[in-house]
Amino acid sequence: MSSNLLQNRWQRLSETAVRQLQAEQLRRYLRTVVLPFSAYYRQLFREQRLDAESFRTLDELRRLPFTTKSDLLNTAAHPQRFQDFILVPDPKALARRPAAIWGALVHGREFVRQSFESEFRPIFMTFTTGRSAEPTPFLYTRRDLLHLETAGRRLVQVCAARPEDRLLNTLPFAPHLAFWLAHYAGATGGVLTLSTGGGKTMGTDGTLRNLRKFKPDILIGVPTFVYHLLHQAAEEGVRCENLRQIVLGGEKVSDGLRQKLRGLALELGARNVDVLATYGFTEAKLAWSECPFPHDQPSSGYHLYPDLGIIEVIDPGTGEVLPAGQPGELVFTPLDARGTVVLRYRTGDYTDGGITGEACPHCGRSLPRLLGNISRSSEVKPMNFDKIKGTLVDFNELEHVLDDAPHVGTWQVELRKTNDDPLELDELILHVQKLNGADEAQLARELRERCAAHLEIHPNRIVFHDTHEIQQLQGVGRLIKEQKLVDHRPALPRVDAAALPRKENHPNGGEEHHEVESTLVANGGISS
Ligand SMILES: [Zn+2]
Repeated sequence: MSSNLLQNRWQRLSETAVRQLQAEQLRRYLRTVVLPFSAYYRQLFREQRLDAESFRTLDELRRLPFTTKSDLLNTAAHPQRFQDFILVPDPKALARRPAAIWGALVHGREFVRQSFESEFRPIFMTFTTGRSAEPTPFLYTRRDLLHLETAGRRLVQVCAARPEDRLLNTLPFAPHLAFWLAHYAGATGGVLTLSTGGGKTMGTDGTLRNLRKFKPDILIGVPTFVYHLLHQAAEEGVRCENLRQIVLGGEKVSDGLRQKLRGLALELGARNVDVLATYGFTEAKLAWSECPFPHDQPSSGYHLYPDLGIIEVIDPGTGEVLPAGQPGELVFTPLDARGTVVLRYRTGDYTDGGITGEACPHCGRSLPRLLGNISRSSEVKPMNFDKIKGTLVDFNELEHVLDDAPHVGTWQVELRKTNDDPLELDELILHVQKLNGADEAQLARELRERCAAHLEIHPNRIVFHDTHEIQQLQGVGRLIKEQKLVDHRPALPRVDAAALPRKENHPNGGEEHHEVESTLVANGGISS
């Protein structure tokens, strides 16, 4: 009964009620689903001397150890590690469920068998998108797909889409969360949707043709691709007066970028376009969005679904759970997932605004909200620009600096080694699309000043490009997702003498280079 309350009134519950109902649902979920059927967590709970009843309140969730990205990676001892996180039902345990006994009596055994199939048989999967590690599959059962549909429907509600709207989904067609969530958002949200598959599938030209013909009210896509699409549309004089909303997924969204996209939309004849960000990640099998907000006010944050998961904000150093409003790392626990299940999953994503349970000042919904800018720990990198000391460069911050800079369209940050020698110093090269005929020398000077003032870094080179060149660099139309941060530093040669023949080094990168994970969405944004 109480789980129905959490589900049916997900946007109208007080913070106290949410916490109490989430704790109840967590206990039930652990007792009836996770502990009976998850090999990994059954063992972890045994080692920690925990059971479902250990979590009487949500505060006690801190007793459960975190699960991290590295826990999911394959090792020599566990070559198929991700399988340990997939729920494997035990038919005997299922048969003892009161609902199974009742269902068999009323509808027969075949009905019960089918309901177990729908609950537990994996039928769909998406992958994590990090290039630094093997992609990890996350499996969905029919029940998980129903939650994905719920999340899609709610996304449409929170973004305030209307039934008569037309939605152009330009997210890359791939086994990534972002595309599929947008697909389900249109399908279950009751909005006419055209999915073009993004730049690699249909190219900017093909997508532009659809923008022209379909005349969408809502445009969904990865920020970099949407930027190129609207930029080209503006250059070709395309009109798209219907456009009301741009919903972004798969990458972080800075305020500077929102302004640029609103400016481009205005050139297409679309006034007062809302640019809304989404946040999600593969491991959550969900994404959340902002609600529309006045353009002179800050966003009220990502609107979370309290019946489908718990988000905690922790101190990344100590692992302590932080009070509302405190910045920290995001940790996710699902409340009704099947298929692949991770509990207290450390995302490596940070928010500078923390979490709040207060009612939204813009839409009035009462639900947990995630505030502030989200950044990724994988985008803070140690660099060696001189021989004296290393520098920790926060590329999340650099992104804001570049997006906020005037006369800069889109950009790419390239990391290299001096002379492509792995033992040499690091180099940082800014590739910039210059706008409005700005003077190159002056713009370069301004960018250097901004980098020095905000990040205390000095780019080795700033290279200006026209639209075509920057599209080539970012891989528009060539890669599934456009690249804004590329690492062309050659890896150090292996010193393991036993590992012969030696692996060749690829000093010039090419297809072998190590690409930095440059995006959220799934994972982030809508995470990919
Ligand atoms: Zn709101």
